[in-house]
Amino acid sequence: MKKFTLLLCAGVAVWAADADLILHNGKILTVDSRFSVVEAMAVKGGRISAVGSSAEILKTERGSGTRVIDLHGSSVLPGLNDAHVHVLGAALSEFRQTLPPLNSISDIQAYIRERAAKTPKGAWIVVPRTLPPRLAEMRFPTRQDLDVTRDHPVAFDGSYVWSANSLGLKVSGITRDTPNPPNGEIVKGPDGEPNGILRNAAALLKGAQQSEKFTEDEKLRAMEEMLRRYAAAGLTTVGDRAVTAEDVALYEKLHAQGRLPIRVRMTWRIDASKPIEQVEQEIRSSKWTTGRGDDSLKFSTFKVTLDGGQSVGTAYQRVPYGAFGKQLYGQTNPDARGMLFVEPEKLYRIFKAASDQGWQLTAHVQGGAAIDNLLDAFERLDKAQSIAGRRHHVMHGSFMNDAAIARMEKLKVAVDAQPGWMYFDVPALGRVFGLANMPKFFPLHSFVAHGIPVAGGSDHMIGHGKNNSVNPYNPFLNMWMCTVRKTRDGSDFYPEERVSREDALRMWTSGAAWMQFSEKEIGSLERGKLADFVVVDGDFLKASADTLRAMEPAMTVVGGRVVYEKK
Ligand SMILES: [Zn+2]
Repeated sequence: MKKFTLLLCAGVAVWAADADLILHNGKILTVDSRFSVVEAMAVKGGRISAVGSSAEILKTERGSGTRVIDLHGSSVLPGLNDAHVHVLGAALSEFRQTLPPLNSISDIQAYIRERAAKTPKGAWIVVPRTLPPRLAEMRFPTRQDLDVTRDHPVAFDGSYVWSANSLGLKVSGITRDTPNPPNGEIVKGPDGEPNGILRNAAALLKGAQQSEKFTEDEKLRAMEEMLRRYAAAGLTTVGDRAVTAEDVALYEKLHAQGRLPIRVRMTWRIDASKPIEQVEQEIRSSKWTTGRGDDSLKFSTFKVTLDGGQSVGTAYQRVPYGAFGKQLYGQTNPDARGMLFVEPEKLYRIFKAASDQGWQLTAHVQGGAAIDNLLDAFERLDKAQSIAGRRHHVMHGSFMNDAAIARMEKLKVAVDAQPGWMYFDVPALGRVFGLANMPKFFPLHSFVAHGIPVAGGSDHMIGHGKNNSVNPYNPFLNMWMCTVRKTRDGSDFYPEERVSREDALRMWTSGAAWMQFSEKEIGSLERGKLADFVVVDGDFLKASADTLRAMEPAMTVVGGRVVYEKK
């Protein structure tokens, strides 16, 4: 039987040397080590069988069954790879109803009124996750802002900080006498009454967080549709950066049913708030580790959430948030520097346990002091046993400085960066910290100059639209941000930290693939690699900046299979 199969395979190979697909007369940006640009590429059996000149590829690879596409000068890029998304949450956020744009407190009030008309009295209305620095008023909505309905408890989801209306506080039993939860704060107004803002204390809102229920089938459908939207945006791989056992089971089901249109790399985020012995036990008894899985679905990284968010004033900073932080975040203490969720000794023990299991390590760190804490842990691990080659990395790392960059270079630590936050949040963050104090906020050029590998990611978590979600996952919009470094008010922001289009493309292809230990299979267009690529509607390297920003995929291909084609 074995012999027969071998003979048959050999026979087929001889008969059908023809490619399944040839793209020619274009600019194929291979993103190989020399960043070669070629005219043509052939695909066979899901892999790239040849790259070269149009004449050569058409002559040697074309057969009677070959689909031939004339690119008319358009570019082909390696399949784009968003290293940082949150699929399930984003998928469900608009599964039942579309979210209106919430760009101001009056937008939020209109949303509450609209939901109140359709929601039974007494049932929670939850305003979907919105980040205060992106609101026109640049302040956190309070109880009074949300009191546009008296019949419904209302909660505003600002990520690590929430707020509630008067009825929401009442049904949750929150009064001026309620003690603050550990690491959290019930913020009071000048009258001593809760003003509705709950810093790291959303768990106090009784019933607000379980407002919507979904069946497993709905979750599977929502995830599959979300992955299809990514494919339509030109993405062929995404890194899902905080999976739980539930996400993993859903992904495995989709994979088994042939419903994964693009590749997924999973990062396991552990709940580090449990006692250390329990966390260590959970890590040691898990079968998951870096590299487990196959080309379509596998584990990449182990993650701890070390601090909060810069958009809600809980990122753990080197300096206080000050007076403007008080307005923006509903903070009471101008000396507050944010929150460190895991103490150094505990972080080291968690990392040690995960490293022993073969995991690549990272931590969510936004504030500068959190970055420093993470690098301390990496340094301590490195002293015991070199971490070079493990591809450990900083996740986000918004508030960099020269010292942190130098330590990363020395330790061979990479970064998962979100340039989109610069565009959206610098107008507000600049007022908190002073623009003059932020020269190394997502310092992309410095990373490249210091040889620090960069993976580009959006941190997409809420909403379906590629340009209007939190955070927009359109890879062309994100790459444009890396090259222009403008903020949403149109100002230039440290233009010396701009990178070239080539480097921006590397972040969304080879850089992300490298971080996911997948660079042997994806991330560049080279003979033998998986045929993951995107055909775009223009010249990626020569188009004007505005054209680059608005560039659209004409076709997205994963493993030789067309997963999206513009009608
Ligand atoms: Zn994230």
